Amino acid sequence: KGERLRLPPWLKTSIPIGKNFNKLKNTLRDLNLHTVCEEARCPNIGECWGGGEHGTATATIMLMGDTCTRGCRFCSVKTARRPPPLDPDEPYNTAKAIAAWGLDYVVLTSVDRDDIADGGAEHIARTVSNLKERNSHILVECLTPDFRGDLAAVEKIAQSGLDVYAHNVETVRELQRQVRDPRANFDQSMSVLRHAKVVKPGVLTKTSLMLGLGETDQQIHNTMTELREANVDCLTLGQYMQPTKRHLKVEEYVTPERFAHWEKVGMEMGFIYTASGPLVRSSYKAGEFFLKNLLE
Ligand code: SF4
Ligand code: SF4
Repeated sequence: KGERLRLPPWLKTSIPIGKNFNKLKNTLRDLNLHTVCEEARCPNIGECWGGGEHGTATATIMLMGDTCTRGCRFCSVKTARRPPPLDPDEPYNTAKAIAAWGLDYVVLTSVDRDDIADGGAEHIARTVSNLKERNSHILVECLTPDFRGDLAAVEKIAQSGLDVYAHNVETVRELQRQVRDPRANFDQSMSVLRHAKVVKPGVLTKTSLMLGLGETDQQIHNTMTELREANVDCLTLGQYMQPTKRHLKVEEYVTPERFAHWEKVGMEMGFIYTASGPLVRSSYKAGEFFLKNLLE
């Protein structure tokens, strides 16, 4: 402990830019959409927006404001006990803007809003249904909060017309307390994932793990096994990166070879897809994976 680890070479490489990138970039300006891709300066933006070999452009949109009621130790989103109220027009306006933007696959995510009775579930569900009414071809993934385990909120979203229900367990069972806000925990997150699949079996469920927080191989393996037992369909694994000095330190830069190993383990366990690599984020090229694995 003490010294910060040096950035290994595989995290310094530049990533190719796909052919739709400039088109999306240029049409975004007037739409008043807040993309996580841009705001978090995600290194995958060229690939996700560009659409890769299948031309499937993916982007992640943030709903319900920029201020979270929680404070996870890995996350740089700002925190307040009472963030500003929801914009009641957001579901309609956002759906309209996304439909006009020309995406193939959209991830709708949000901050956690423990200050709102249903955690914002109705607001998210309305955004999905508005969007699907305007554009039935766009594939929609919701990356949701845990709603403090409120399964009625999970159900509302699972029934909204979305294609993929994502909720991140973030880290192995053993490190939950060190990494996530104390209101989050592994079993609560598992119950969200399990419930989404039970109420809507046709919806794919998906989760993500960050590696490099000090977890052991055995803990990763056990967590993956538990996820499969809960019928989670898709899994992503990526390197944890410390956003500022005040956040949790990186314990290890996991090598690309180890990430490839976990991808293989995920495939053997029967996940529909496992995306695993140092720069993989929960929404990384989601549209492309979806098409490749389900429509071919
Ligand atoms: Fe956007 Fe997610 Fe892709 Fe990053 S990984 S560019 S946040 S869709
Ligand atoms: Fe960040 Fe989500 Fe945790 Fe809020 S709940 S602090 S947005 S990771």
